[in-house]
Amino acid sequence: MKAYCKICKTIIYPTSDFEFGVMALSHIMQYHFSHPSYSELLEKIIEQTKNDFIIEKDGRKMEIWTIYKHPLDYPEKFVARKFIFDKPTSEILIGDTLEEIRKLLPGGLTRIERDPKDDPVIVEAWIG
Ligand SMILES: [Zn+2]
Repeated sequence: MKAYCKICKTIIYPTSDFEFGVMALSHIMQYHFSHPSYSELLEKIIEQTKNDFIIEKDGRKMEIWTIYKHPLDYPEKFVARKFIFDKPTSEILIGDTLEEIRKLLPGGLTRIERDPKDDPVIVEAWIG
Protein backbone atom coordinates (compact mmCIF):
# COMPACT_ATOMS: atom_id res chain seq x y z
CA MET A 1 0.00 0.00 0.00
CA LYS A 2 1.22 3.49 -0.82
CA ALA A 3 -0.32 6.73 0.43
CA TYR A 4 0.42 10.41 -0.17
CA CYS A 5 -0.06 13.13 2.40
CA LYS A 6 -2.17 15.76 0.64
CA ILE A 7 -0.72 18.49 2.83
CA CYS A 8 3.02 17.95 2.25
CA LYS A 9 3.12 15.16 -0.38
CA THR A 10 5.11 12.79 1.85
CA ILE A 11 4.67 9.17 0.80
CA ILE A 12 4.11 6.38 3.32
CA TYR A 13 4.12 2.62 2.70
CA PRO A 14 1.82 0.93 5.19
CA THR A 15 1.20 -2.80 4.91
CA SER A 16 -2.33 -2.81 6.32
CA ASP A 17 -5.23 -0.48 7.08
CA PHE A 18 -4.24 -0.58 10.74
CA GLU A 19 -0.66 0.37 9.93
CA PHE A 20 -1.94 3.10 7.62
CA GLY A 21 -3.88 4.54 10.55
CA VAL A 22 -0.85 4.47 12.88
CA MET A 23 1.57 5.90 10.28
CA ALA A 24 -0.81 8.55 9.00
CA LEU A 25 -1.76 9.70 12.49
CA SER A 26 1.84 9.88 13.65
CA HIS A 27 2.75 11.81 10.47
CA ILE A 28 -0.09 14.27 11.05
CA MET A 29 0.83 14.69 14.70
CA GLN A 30 4.47 15.27 13.89
CA TYR A 31 4.14 17.61 10.92
CA HIS A 32 0.63 19.00 10.73
CA PHE A 33 -0.38 19.46 14.31
CA SER A 34 -1.77 22.94 13.71
CA HIS A 35 -3.61 22.08 10.50
CA PRO A 36 -7.20 23.22 11.12
CA SER A 37 -8.77 19.92 10.18
CA TYR A 38 -6.73 18.13 12.85
CA SER A 39 -5.84 20.54 15.64
CA GLU A 40 -9.01 20.03 17.67
CA LEU A 41 -8.98 16.25 17.22
CA LEU A 42 -5.31 16.01 18.16
CA GLU A 43 -5.80 18.12 21.28
CA LYS A 44 -8.53 15.68 22.33
CA ILE A 45 -6.25 12.72 21.67
CA ILE A 46 -3.46 14.35 23.70
CA GLU A 47 -5.84 15.05 26.60
CA GLN A 48 -7.06 11.46 26.51
CA THR A 49 -3.58 9.93 26.30
CA LYS A 50 -2.42 12.05 29.27
CA ASN A 51 -4.59 9.76 31.38
CA ASP A 52 -2.50 6.78 30.33
CA PHE A 53 0.96 8.30 30.83
CA ILE A 54 2.83 9.59 33.82
CA ILE A 55 4.57 12.70 32.56
CA GLU A 56 8.13 13.44 33.59
CA LYS A 57 9.57 16.94 33.56
CA ASP A 58 13.38 17.10 33.57
CA GLY A 59 13.45 13.43 34.55
CA ARG A 60 11.08 13.98 37.47
CA LYS A 61 7.53 12.75 37.57
CA MET A 62 5.17 15.71 37.56
CA GLU A 63 3.90 16.23 41.07
CA ILE A 64 0.92 18.16 42.30
CA TRP A 65 0.36 19.15 45.92
CA THR A 66 -3.23 19.98 46.74
CA ILE A 67 -3.83 21.98 49.92
CA TYR A 68 -6.99 21.40 51.94
CA LYS A 69 -8.40 23.53 54.75
CA HIS A 70 -9.99 21.51 57.56
CA PRO A 71 -10.61 18.29 55.60
CA LEU A 72 -12.78 15.61 57.20
CA ASP A 73 -9.82 13.51 58.37
CA TYR A 74 -7.98 16.50 59.94
CA PRO A 75 -10.80 18.92 60.79
CA GLU A 76 -8.53 21.32 62.71
CA LYS A 77 -5.63 21.39 60.25
CA PHE A 78 -4.37 22.43 56.87
CA VAL A 79 -3.24 19.42 54.85
CA ALA A 80 -1.25 19.04 51.62
CA ARG A 81 -1.52 15.80 49.70
CA LYS A 82 0.88 14.81 46.98
CA PHE A 83 -0.32 13.46 43.63
CA ILE A 84 1.85 12.11 40.86
CA PHE A 85 -0.05 13.54 37.96
CA ASP A 86 -3.62 12.57 38.91
CA LYS A 87 -2.69 9.57 41.09
CA PRO A 88 -2.76 10.08 44.85
CA THR A 89 0.33 9.11 46.88
CA SER A 90 0.60 8.47 50.61
CA GLU A 91 2.69 11.62 51.12
CA ILE A 92 0.95 14.19 53.25
CA LEU A 93 1.95 17.40 55.05
CA ILE A 94 0.02 18.70 58.04
CA GLY A 95 0.10 22.19 59.53
CA ASP A 96 -1.99 24.65 61.51
CA THR A 97 -2.06 27.44 58.95
CA LEU A 98 -1.82 27.89 55.20
CA GLU A 99 1.50 29.71 55.64
CA GLU A 100 2.90 26.80 57.63
CA ILE A 101 1.90 24.29 54.94
CA ARG A 102 3.38 26.46 52.18
CA LYS A 103 6.72 26.47 54.05
CA LEU A 104 6.69 22.67 54.26
CA LEU A 105 6.19 22.20 50.51
CA PRO A 106 9.24 21.26 48.43
CA GLY A 107 10.87 24.13 46.53
CA GLY A 108 10.43 24.87 42.85
CA LEU A 109 6.66 24.45 42.68
CA THR A 110 4.24 26.80 40.95
CA ARG A 111 1.00 27.86 42.58
CA ILE A 112 -2.33 27.15 40.89
CA GLU A 113 -5.48 29.01 41.95
CA ARG A 114 -8.37 26.85 43.07
CA ASP A 115 -11.02 26.25 40.44
CA PRO A 116 -14.55 27.41 41.42
CA LYS A 117 -15.67 23.84 40.67
CA ASP A 118 -13.20 22.40 43.21
CA ASP A 119 -14.35 20.92 46.49
CA PRO A 120 -14.82 23.78 49.02
CA VAL A 121 -12.07 22.34 51.28
CA ILE A 122 -9.48 22.78 48.52
CA VAL A 123 -7.49 25.99 49.03
CA GLU A 124 -4.98 25.87 46.19
CA ALA A 125 -2.58 23.52 44.43
CA TRP A 126 1.12 23.56 43.64
CA ILE A 127 2.60 21.88 40.58
CA GLY A 128 6.19 21.00 39.81
ZN1 LIG B 1 2.29 15.61 5.44
